[in-house]
Amino acid sequence: MKIAVVGTGYVGLVTGTCLAETGNQVICVDINEQKVKKMQNGQLPIYEPGLELLFHRNINQGRLQFTSTLVDAIAEASIIFLALPTPPGGDGAADLSYVLGAAKDIAKLITDYKVIVTKSTVPVGTADKITAVLTEHTNAEFAVVSNPEFLREGVAVDDFMKPDRIVVGTLDERARKLMAELYGPYVRQGNPIIFMDQRSSELTKYAANSFLATKISFMNEIANLCELVDADVDMVRRGIGADDRIGRRFLFSGIGYGGSCFPKDVQALAKSAHDYSYDFKILNAVMDVNYIQKTVLVEKVKKYYKGDPKGKKFAIWGLAFKPETDDIREAPALYIIEELLAAGATITAFDPEAMNNVKGVFGGKIAYAENQYEALNDADALLILTEWSVFRTPDFDMVEKLLKAKVIFDGRNLYDLQKMIDCGYYYNSIGRKLIN
Ligand code: NAD
Repeated sequence: MKIAVVGTGYVGLVTGTCLAETGNQVICVDINEQKVKKMQNGQLPIYEPGLELLFHRNINQGRLQFTSTLVDAIAEASIIFLALPTPPGGDGAADLSYVLGAAKDIAKLITDYKVIVTKSTVPVGTADKITAVLTEHTNAEFAVVSNPEFLREGVAVDDFMKPDRIVVGTLDERARKLMAELYGPYVRQGNPIIFMDQRSSELTKYAANSFLATKISFMNEIANLCELVDADVDMVRRGIGADDRIGRRFLFSGIGYGGSCFPKDVQALAKSAHDYSYDFKILNAVMDVNYIQKTVLVEKVKKYYKGDPKGKKFAIWGLAFKPETDDIREAPALYIIEELLAAGATITAFDPEAMNNVKGVFGGKIAYAENQYEALNDADALLILTEWSVFRTPDFDMVEKLLKAKVIFDGRNLYDLQKMIDCGYYYNSIGRKLIN
């Protein structure tokens, strides 16, 4: 099949590459010419495990191309994916200007039947808005399909190639057949393609992300309670996770959810509900808890230094909003760094993949280490903010030698408490006993 993908960020580039991998002819369009040049020269603009191999293979075999000109991409395509940003607007609602703007541009170019598929996360009713824009600007036949993306950064290729489910919102029979044919190779093991109407499909994506965010905020509240009642959140997590009705995933407590999806999607769903005069109480609590949770580690640091961490030097391990990505959008680390800088501390940070993006935010305000141990040099304490595998079993003798004091604030609960006792650290984690 001939496919166009508009927008080549984390979703668009993975979508385009993975669709090429099953034999489709894919052209990806992006407005960012520099990015397009990079990709045309065979360079990946993002870090995503497993993507590079597929990216090169499909470029080399002529199935994956890049352009900054929409007209080049859509003339031949039967399906056009929109993988454009939907950032929060000032009122928290998703900003649809990218999606509706692209729909207008596409409308002016199409002359025969096209299926226009929204992969971006968009509020209920967006398919109708896209349809209205297209109707206004073209006489060609088209169908607008909602096909929310559930991939997770860090395992995006696997998620795309072997999805738990694919949700397709359309009542157009022709579009349904095309989508079923396109996705057939990805559901050979029997995972479902769930067809539904556009509105239900649009809401499904927000419901999924908001439910997962709720699980995280719930566990963060349990963690906070654990600290007060001298219980261990890891034990509680294991105790409830063994119940099939609850499940083991998304029960880890920490320093709050971040990333380009959960914060904006929870906010957008709450705003959508509000627009329909519905007060979605749980979502408001989820957001409040998450906001507070980002401050928890800073409060622990401040308390340790009797309210005044001024002049202290901190090593930070982990900047990305989660491991295996270079994405720092809404990363709790950014908030924590800002707070510590404001309190007069200095910071040397290390992250395996996100350093360049963080340099773009903080520039020379913090120092950057070449590796995790270099960050520790002469630091008063270590803060762990992303649970990269490489931080899980460090050489604690080396850590002890390099740090000025054996003090660790762990926002991701990476280490065994007994190990910390045996090694003689002050170890302050989330929802667990303070090792002092
Ligand atoms: P992104 O910011 O990484 O990428 C968006 C891309 O679109 C950029 O490369 C940008 O240059 C390009 N772009 C902007 N305007 C354009 C235009 N008019 N024409 C062509 N290209 C244009 O965004 P993302 O993380 O890939 O997210 C895209 C959508 O997918 C969002 O709605 C997001 O909520 C949703 N989503 C994201 C994830 C994720 O993990 N990142 C997962 C599921 C769904």
